[in-house]
Amino acid sequence: MTAPTLQLENNTKKLLKTASEQFGTPTYVYFWEDMQNQLKLIDSVFGGRFKVSYAVKANPNHALLKALDSHVATLDVSSAGELLHAISCGYDPQRLSFSGPGKSETELITALDNHCGKLIAESVDELEDLNRLAHERDIVCSVVLRIGPSKTPKGFGVNMAGRPSQFGIDEEVLDSALERLADLQNLRFAGFHIYAGAQCLDADAIVENYSNYIKIFTEFSERHQLYPEQLIFGGGIGIPYHAGDTPIDLQTLATAVNPLLDNLLTNPHFQKTHCVLEIGRLIVGEAGYFLTKVTRTKQSRGKELRICDGGLNNHLAACGHFGSIIHRNYRMTNLDLSDQEITNAKEETSFDVFGPLCTTIDQLARDIKLTKLECGDVLVIGSSGAYGFSASPMYFISHPPAKEIMIFGKGEEAELKDVSTHLPV
Ligand SMILES: *Cc1c(COP(=O)(O)O)cnc(C)c1O
Repeated sequence: MTAPTLQLENNTKKLLKTASEQFGTPTYVYFWEDMQNQLKLIDSVFGGRFKVSYAVKANPNHALLKALDSHVATLDVSSAGELLHAISCGYDPQRLSFSGPGKSETELITALDNHCGKLIAESVDELEDLNRLAHERDIVCSVVLRIGPSKTPKGFGVNMAGRPSQFGIDEEVLDSALERLADLQNLRFAGFHIYAGAQCLDADAIVENYSNYIKIFTEFSERHQLYPEQLIFGGGIGIPYHAGDTPIDLQTLATAVNPLLDNLLTNPHFQKTHCVLEIGRLIVGEAGYFLTKVTRTKQSRGKELRICDGGLNNHLAACGHFGSIIHRNYRMTNLDLSDQEITNAKEETSFDVFGPLCTTIDQLARDIKLTKLECGDVLVIGSSGAYGFSASPMYFISHPPAKEIMIFGKGEEAELKDVSTHLPV
């Protein structure tokens, strides 16, 4: 037997098949039950020590945000657009934090006028502007300072520390920023934020990173006599994308992190502090699949080629152009391959799989090994729930956007809903 890189449970496979038949392709499918289970697991391993904040940019789908409402404490938004979108999905603006290195004056005004809960300040320049705007409105705005730490342990797919960065206030100059903040009468210090690396699959590196966060939070709170309401831990916890990736064991991670948090909270500076775990992909990533149908088969210079109805325009990340340096195949399988065909398969064929665009970079897979992949078959790509639909150049070459389907429940009672995002044309 030869197994495809993506293994699907029977229920999942059946529902993906129904989704592709009922709604067509290219389509994203999100399983609400998988997200719920992931949130339950996070809550249980950390024993409630962390409040969970969902980073909207991972997947801003309106139905997904509405479903998450009663399952996360807060949302982190990264633009005025996301802020207004979250409010329109029913979120109390007090539950929103607004991060981002380039918030314009208009965006800051939108945040203030809509009573956004926390502004995450990423520079001293921004603090000055925010203070002026709050003063003009005769209000006091709660700010959380984002810190750019001087180091991040090895093991992060994306590492933002220790180099010139648009994100946060450098740890090295934080003292003077805090002195300045103390003089800004229309700003209230509400806490610290660090998010220094993403997509880490090494639990030890995450623990080391969080202990560094804790060291920085403690040092600056003590030195400046601060009593933060919130300490935001930009999670950085990775998910498996490629064959051979080992997921983080959350229980193991929590067993190491929990004592650090318990110890932190014994410090008199943190008696009223909430620790916040700010994450995106860990909640939604593995709960999402991308379905694309083979529309052309062809042999070219000894190679089996397959062309699909959706590619880079729908799923930039799977083509290796979002946060990765080299392209590695996402885990995928042919939805039209029966269990029997998988079991009986003697040998696999190596396929190069492309999207429909007139550009060489529109390639979903190189040398992916499958028992078969024929015209009309649906290819399913895993770990597509985060940085999929909204992180792709949908307008490039004017194909219709992918649909988005959300599935509630996984058994006989499962309900499939078209929750597509309607883009302006
Ligand atoms: C994108 C982002 C996150 C979420 O990152 P994931 O890797 O999806 O967990 C968290 N915090 C901030 C500030 C972000 O910009």
